[in-house]
Amino acid sequence: MGSDLLDQAATQEFEIFKLGHPALRLRSEEVNPSEIGSEKINNILVRLKQTKQTVGLSAPQLGINYRIFLTELPTRLSSRYLGYTPSPLQIWINPSYTVVDDTMLGGCESCLSVPGYIGRVLRPAAIEVQALNEDGKSVIETLSGWNARVFLHEYDHLDGILYVDKLAEDPEGRKELFEKSMWEVIEAEKRKAGDAEWLARFRLKQ
Ligand SMILES: [Zn+2]
Repeated sequence: MGSDLLDQAATQEFEIFKLGHPALRLRSEEVNPSEIGSEKINNILVRLKQTKQTVGLSAPQLGINYRIFLTELPTRLSSRYLGYTPSPLQIWINPSYTVVDDTMLGGCESCLSVPGYIGRVLRPAAIEVQALNEDGKSVIETLSGWNARVFLHEYDHLDGILYVDKLAEDPEGRKELFEKSMWEVIEAEKRKAGDAEWLARFRLKQ
């Protein structure tokens, strides 16, 4: 048993690969279901869980090109986002999905692989997802709102797609990507002005 690696994992944060690294642009490989529970896969899961994230992290962001990601929607963010259901940490292996509500909703996304930016992306309102969990059991769930968004953002990483590839456009046809510091200024102004329409475009609560 590679306990050295696991011990290391327990005390170490792993590097998150940034935009420009080729590992982020590959189509990642399916996990052989018979390998779930193996040392190799368990090590990947430990690395994912050990690395600080906000709501999700995919294996390719650690330079590991397998179709695995995790999601975790902490309760503290439910006061910020519209259509957000807190959800405990979940591991998704070989995930797939079908769209069950194709109403496209805007929302503000950011990514540890694209530090310092926030962008608006349109995502379907609801999806049905299927995946294997860390015990190798099949899981089927319907996700909506932010929960669907987080799943789809992470799923895109498995196909080498980043949210900056999918930016929505403002009414003047400009891609909606903001430097985080600028975003904070704009959001504060919009909140002060009580601009409900602007906040709703980003699925933010008033
Ligand atoms: Zn990301």
